[in-house]
Formats: sequence, structure tokens, C-alpha cells
Amino acid sequence: MHAIEQTQRVTVVGAGLVGSLLAMYLARRGFQVDVLERRPDMRREAIGAGRSINLAISTRGLHALRQVGLEEEALRHAIPMRGRMIHPVSGGLVYQAYGKDESQHINSLSRAWLNKFLMTHAEGTGRVRIDFKQRVEHVDFDKGVLDVVDEASGARRELRTPVVFGTDGSGSAVRREMVLQPGHTSNQEQLSHGYKELTIPSGPGGAFRMEKHALHIWPRGSYMLIALPNEDGSFTCTLFLPFQGPDSFEALETPQQLKAFFEQHFPDALPLMPDLVHDFFHNPTGTMVTVKSGPWHVDGKALLLGDAAHAIVPFFGQGMNCGFEDCVVLDECLGRHTRWAEAFEELSRLRKTNADAIADMAVENFVEMRDKTADPRFLLEKSVEKVLLNAFPGEFLARYALVSFSRVPYRLAYEVGAIASGIVAELSEGLSRAEDVNLDRARTLIRERMVPFVKEHSDGFGLER
Ligand code: FAD
Repeated sequence: MHAIEQTQRVTVVGAGLVGSLLAMYLARRGFQVDVLERRPDMRREAIGAGRSINLAISTRGLHALRQVGLEEEALRHAIPMRGRMIHPVSGGLVYQAYGKDESQHINSLSRAWLNKFLMTHAEGTGRVRIDFKQRVEHVDFDKGVLDVVDEASGARRELRTPVVFGTDGSGSAVRREMVLQPGHTSNQEQLSHGYKELTIPSGPGGAFRMEKHALHIWPRGSYMLIALPNEDGSFTCTLFLPFQGPDSFEALETPQQLKAFFEQHFPDALPLMPDLVHDFFHNPTGTMVTVKSGPWHVDGKALLLGDAAHAIVPFFGQGMNCGFEDCVVLDECLGRHTRWAEAFEELSRLRKTNADAIADMAVENFVEMRDKTADPRFLLEKSVEKVLLNAFPGEFLARYALVSFSRVPYRLAYEVGAIASGIVAELSEGLSRAEDVNLDRARTLIRERMVPFVKEHSDGFGLER
């Protein structure tokens, strides 16, 4: 087992969102960090940042940026989204605030901007060197050797490194090698839905053509459209649709079929999307996968973080937030241990159960977003939840708020969320208006079911901002 303080150079594979931030954290601890990135430098060459054009950053991700002094600047480029704006087929809009008040919101941020920002600040530490067009093909954990292919010339080389961090995303090459080690497993589940990015351009003078401070959702049962605002007044829309079946990517083969589908199901969005046909038939159809792997490390020689360790589907807006939180927890583990293996072991112990919990919640949230947000009963329950959050501050806790607006471990958010849903469902029985909820009964239920759970896990619940 080698000692942390005797290691000078470490290698990070992948300069995506998590790898770039991780490099900063490692540089702060005094390491020289070599980062190998498969893609060209997106600050110099026009390439897509991959995946979604924008994404939602919330408390966990912001906390991670704050530790390295980057939160404020990131927030200057972000658009607060204070609630969901639901677009029913019949017209009219329904708004649901995300939090107990406007201070609780999530933030829409450009993925490309954030990635470039993180890379530049990582290099700015003077301890991080990012080599682009360098694809890691193979890892020999015993010898501490990486096989690296130069994507421009095709040349191959070997790189020696005492410690390697795999932040190379959901299709991780480092994980692929790790799974070959005895006792390692990786379970990958692909969603039967894909996604397509579409655009609502800005109006005259960069005006937003829908409510700017909301995440827009067109829930349609087995599929949905969502839209997040961009700084330039446009919205990036994502259509989540089954690959096969009656309403599916397979069924939309021609511009006529596409337009008819939008006319029928998204009539208020269609007039705002002049480039719909072009975007739909030119943009790639993305796939979504949940990866549950473990252990995430090989002794003290290698560690997976971010999507490489635990890719999740995007319906809680937490993949990156979770990966950023990994960096914070790793940093704390490195502060507590003198040996890499011990730090990696502790990190895996602390994070694995939480990554599994957010993976499951993200899948459950897909059903909630695409189906339940259109259901009056669900809307009533959400309003009851809000009444309880305001009437019993600190006593009543709800899952969405814990996941998005606190750093309470995901596992606890999952479990307390189940208790909260039970209480809300019981109190909503026979109710037609949230304001009529029986607060005495609510107090009793909260004190019987939720308070003891929170007390039992008081360490975890002490972590809010
Ligand atoms: P990636 O971003 O995938 O980065 C991996 C990097 O490694 C890439 O730069 C890649 O080029 C490089 N790489 C890959 N293989 C190699 C190799 N062999 N050698 C060298 N380099 C390599 N999360 C949120 O928190 N909020 C959201 O709102 C949100 N929305 C999303 C919407 C969609 C449609 C999707 C698909 C995901 C969304 N996510 C969101 C999840 C988020 O995108 C991921 O969790 C995040 O990108 C993970 O970062 P990462 O650095 O671990 O992996």
C-alpha cells in the first residue's frame, strides 16, 4: 500500500465535468495532475460538449464549486429555475414551485461553458496539465501502466502512473478493465427510451418566449418533452420517447409524421420551434443508462468517480451533482488518511449506497415527470407537501427538497422521502384543497413516523447548506 503524501504525480482519465473538477481538488492537495482527454480541446475546436446542451446544477454541485472558489462565477452564468411549468395538451399552464420559497431553486447552466470553465481553472492552478486527443485504451493495474492512443496520429504509448482516477464517463475504459479484476462487478441497464435535443430560439432582442425561471414539462404519460432556459433567451428542449412502439422514435420517420405528432401532443410548443424538422432529423438520438458497479477501486492504485462509477438517468438532474459531490467526499477522505487504499475504501463505503439511491430515485422520477405531473391527485399531494414544509419547518422533510436543496446523503433522502409520501398520501385522502389539510393529524403523523427516523440518523441530517 503506498502513501498519499509520498505520491507526487497522479493521472486522471477524462476531462469532462467531474474529471476537470477532480483535477482542481487534487491540485489543491499539492499533486501534479496529468489529465488525458479523448476529445479535442473544446475551447479551441468547435465540438459538441456531448450529452445535453444545458443542465441543472443544485446545492450539491454548487457546494463542490464553492470549495474551490468557483460557485459565484458559475452562478453568474446560470438561470434560476424556481419551479416546474406544466404544459397540459388542452392548453393553460400549471406552475409548481420546487421549494418552500423562491430561495430554493435549481439552476440552468450551459454544459460546454461549465466544462471549459473548469478546465481553464484546473490548468490555472499551475499543477494540472490536460492532454487532448489522448484516449486511454487499456490499464494494467498491477504494473501501474496505461496504454494511450493519440487520436490525431494513431500513435500508441505507455504511461506509468502510481495512481489513476477514472472519470471517463458512463462507457468508462477504466471501469471496463476494473471489472476484469476478481470480485469486481458492473451492472448496466439501458432505458427503453431515448432522447432528442430540440430548440426554441429566442424572440426579438433575445427575449424568452416562455417563462424564463422555470423548467418546462409537457408530460404525456409514457413520454415527455422538457425545456430549460439558456442565457441567450433560447430554450433547449429534450424529447424523451420510447425507441419502439406507437408513439416512438421508430414511428416518426417523416417530417409529416413529426409535425402531426407535435400538433397533436405539443400544440403550444410547435409554433415556437421553427427548426423542429431539421433538429429532429439531424441531431443524434441519445441513449440513457444506469450503471451500478463496485468496488470502485483497485487497492490504492485506481479509483472510479462520476458517471464512470455510477451513471444514472437524467430525470432528477443529479448525475453531475452527484459526481461533484464525489470530489468533495474524496477530498475529505484524503484529508483523513495516509494511504490511498484507505481513502479509496472509505470513499466507496460512503458513496456507493448513496449513488445507488440516487440512481433508483432518478428512474422513479421519470415516471413522476412524464406521467404523474399531469395528474390532479399528484398536484394536490405536491401542494399538501408544500403546506407541511411551511407548517413544520425542520420537522417535515420532502424528498425533492432534500435531494436538490441539501447535502443530506441521498440514501437518507430516499428513505425519509418514502415516509413523507406515506404521510402526504394519508393526509390527502378525501381532500380537495391543500389548505384544508388537517394540521393536528399532520403533526401527529410527522412526530410518530418522521421525527424518530431523523433522530436516529441525526449525523446525516445535520448536513444542510
Ligand atoms: P462525462 O461528462 O461523460 O465526461 C467523461 C469524459 O471522459 C469526456 O470528456 C470523454 O471524452 C472522456 N473520455 C471517455 N473515454 C475516455 C478514454 N478512454 N480516454 C480518455 N478520455 C475519455 N446531471 C445533472 O447534475 N444535472 C442535469 O440537469 C443533467 N442533465 C442531463 C441530461 C441528459 C440528457 C444527460 C444524458 C445527462 C444529464 N446529466 C445531468 C448527467 C451528467 O451529464 C453526467 O452525470 C455528467 O456529465 C458526468 O460527468 P463525468 O465527467 O463523470 O462524465
